[in-house]
Amino acid sequence: MKVYCPYCREEKEYIIETREVKEFRGKEIDTYENVAMCKTCKNDLYVNELETENSKRIYEAYRQTENIIKPQDIIDLRSKYDISQRELTAILGFGKMTINRYERGGVPTKSQSDYIKLLIENESKFIEKVKEAYSKNNITKKTYEKIMSKENYEECNTNNLQNLIRKCITNNLSRTPDIYNGYKLLDLDKLENIISYIASQVKNLTVTSINKYLWYIDMLSFKEQCVAVTGLTYEHEKFGPTIDGKNYNTLMILNNKYVKEETENDYGTTTQIVSKKNYDLNCLSDDELEIINKVIKLLKNKKVTDISAMSHLEDGWKKTKRYEKISFEYAMNLSID
Ligand SMILES: [Zn+2]
Repeated sequence: MKVYCPYCREEKEYIIETREVKEFRGKEIDTYENVAMCKTCKNDLYVNELETENSKRIYEAYRQTENIIKPQDIIDLRSKYDISQRELTAILGFGKMTINRYERGGVPTKSQSDYIKLLIENESKFIEKVKEAYSKNNITKKTYEKIMSKENYEECNTNNLQNLIRKCITNNLSRTPDIYNGYKLLDLDKLENIISYIASQVKNLTVTSINKYLWYIDMLSFKEQCVAVTGLTYEHEKFGPTIDGKNYNTLMILNNKYVKEETENDYGTTTQIVSKKNYDLNCLSDDELEIINKVIKLLKNKKVTDISAMSHLEDGWKKTKRYEKISFEYAMNLSID
């Protein structure tokens, strides 16, 4: 490898020496640099690629010790609100090319980095800055409105959708305690914990099966203690008792404690409920947990079709018509015990 040596005044072979770098911007760091040295005169030479790599490495070490934000953090912030480098610079009140430089790998000062980090982590602080920039005419109305619409959209999408679904389920399924919910008020948190627990104990738990698990648990509980566990209402459907009004579909959109996963195989798509294993069984009494475990033990090694067929032998299914709510009266003749 050759490069022009200003000392020898001609192209010379060079060697690379690795040296420790212990300090940058007055901060202690621990890294190294590769320096080109003229083979003849032993002076340090400037090799562009080496210097680029060195500064990258040193910046990275400095970033880590000082916990400085990365270029990608800034890019992510911009893409979240769909704003340009210039728009972000205007919002932050930085010099013209600052954001451009940081995104290309330039290292922000610690205080600028902390400032940007605060705005990334704290959305309301960022929005405050946007409003301020707009009031000072630093950003256009168009930019301002774009960011505001993104912000509303985000909020609506992430936090509120799950809450909305919860409200929806509670509205659909809550009824005053009567013979159709086993004299129990629906408790959605408890229900999620139970589903998560069952999913953690049962391999390939399908949506069809979870309906039967819950029905058997509630019926058995009603038979033994005259009160159901979950407070769900069930109806007669083709494949057996299911949660009233097809609300099992809505229940499967919740994702706090379990998720619905679809896998493709040779026979088509199969759906299964996968536990996040974060269930809390403290919401259950010892008797309730015993009943749940009993039903799990009874059904866990059965195929979906067998579980369906089994439920078809129960009075609760035999003595009701399609889409009719299933009364807990039938619990008295439940075949399992
Ligand atoms: Zn030389």
